[in-house]
Amino acid sequence: MMVENLGHIVNGKSIHDYGTPIEVFDPSNGKVISTISNASDKTIENTLNNSTEAFNEWKTFSIAKRSSILFEYKILLEKNIQKLAEIISKDLGKVHDDAVGEIRRGIENVEYACGIGEILKGEFNKNISTSVDSWSEFSPLGPVLGITPFNFPAMVPLWMFPLAIAAGNSFILKPSEKDPLGSMFIVELFNQTKAPRGLLNLLNGDKSVVNKLIKDDRIKAVSFVGSTPVAKNIYETSAISGKRCQALGGAKNHALILPDADIDYTTDQLISAAYGSSGQRCMALSVAVVFSDIKDEFIQDLERKVQKLKFGLDDLHSNSFGPLVSKEHLESVKNYIDMSEGEGARVLVDGRDLLKRNNSNDGYFLGPTIIDNVSSDMKSYQNEIFGPVLQVMEVNKLSDAIKLINNNRFGNGCCIFTRNGEQARTFSENVEIGMVGVNIPLPVPTSFHSFGGWKNSLFGDLNIYGPDGVRFYTQRKTITQRWPSSGSSKGVDLSMPNNLKQ
Ligand code: NAD
Repeated sequence: MMVENLGHIVNGKSIHDYGTPIEVFDPSNGKVISTISNASDKTIENTLNNSTEAFNEWKTFSIAKRSSILFEYKILLEKNIQKLAEIISKDLGKVHDDAVGEIRRGIENVEYACGIGEILKGEFNKNISTSVDSWSEFSPLGPVLGITPFNFPAMVPLWMFPLAIAAGNSFILKPSEKDPLGSMFIVELFNQTKAPRGLLNLLNGDKSVVNKLIKDDRIKAVSFVGSTPVAKNIYETSAISGKRCQALGGAKNHALILPDADIDYTTDQLISAAYGSSGQRCMALSVAVVFSDIKDEFIQDLERKVQKLKFGLDDLHSNSFGPLVSKEHLESVKNYIDMSEGEGARVLVDGRDLLKRNNSNDGYFLGPTIIDNVSSDMKSYQNEIFGPVLQVMEVNKLSDAIKLINNNRFGNGCCIFTRNGEQARTFSENVEIGMVGVNIPLPVPTSFHSFGGWKNSLFGDLNIYGPDGVRFYTQRKTITQRWPSSGSSKGVDLSMPNNLKQ
């Protein structure tokens, strides 16, 4: 059966390049559902020119017009939630409600961008020196680039382009080659608004396309979300080309369970955050650090509930999780489970066995897995697994738990489960992690705050979306002005202007 080549979206139109096709799979059955091709040099050149023209037109649009287009976009997204969720389910294997959740979190960022008049206000000082007023404005940068990962084909692009565009920039999106359909659909929806064509372009392809785009002088800033090695590389390459970059990377997120935690609540929360989306979330909880006093009780409850989890080819609309994104990724996660055993850890619930019991229909399914007796010297602990695997570690002291978490090279998210406010406060003050939850397993900041980890989870100075996003997508211009009355000149003064003397 012939499958469709998806092409690119440039200047509001579908553009096709027919190089070597990259296959896009339905992860629930391993069948090819479409193909993409790397954007050719000609397409890249046309896109960069088109995005530059669109920027020159768009930067003159009033705040009121920009804001009304974002409102229009929000309404279109709301109307199309079900359709978009279906596309994401097919292309990525995310279960329906989970896909709806990601779209909702994405829409929050469009809502934030609708208030651009409020969030882009400059800073003003009257009479900063005698009869001198001074203010700072935040000007757009030009065409900016967003490179996004497979696991949130709608939400992560929506972290980027609505705010970049609201701030007056044009945007080129390069989505993941593994599941481009959801990203393409949200770009098509944007093109149904009254925005100038070419304001939001989408180029498909792999790293070769990324490498050409980031080095081009017409691109003024790069937002990247993906794995840590690539994030670091994109950050370094952007810096060498003299452009600003925010590059968000991978994670290893710990949950600390204190002896006074409510076990039933905690295991429910942990399971939701460890296995939702098959563990393919950068904020997924992948390590449970449990106090020895309660470990047996905790493990018993956890194991009992995990054995009952729905996954695989169960109804993908139900409270379950689907396949991993690709065959290669399934192999990589399975290898980490094998590796843990080799390193001396104990597989308590084995997703590899559960898989055999389930009719996997050639899909990339893996059952939920719990690995106990994990220690910090194990490679399977040090690396991001990014699958439905929860590793369990044991501690006796809060300070030891904080030290363990701080020694990990990632610093995206973490959380603590306790009823003790003092211990929770000590934890959140001392843990070297960008996003901390207290009895909240997935502390993903809302659109009014900004998202970003520490250490190897983010390269760059500013977090993504929210107030940091506004600063990232704009440059400051400071104007100092005086309107002298005639005859007021005090003559030439060669010394550095001294505001106290003026
Ligand atoms: P990935 O790094 O393989 O790919 C991300 C993007 O970069 C894709 O668009 C891909 O085409 C491009 N790319 C891949 N290799 C490249 C290279 N060598 N040079 C230039 N571009 C390249 O990531 P993925 O597998 O799509 O996504 C999963 C990863 O993303 C996980 O590590 C996860 O933790 C991370 N992630 C992080 C966040 C966050 O906010 N920190 C959010 C979501 C996902």
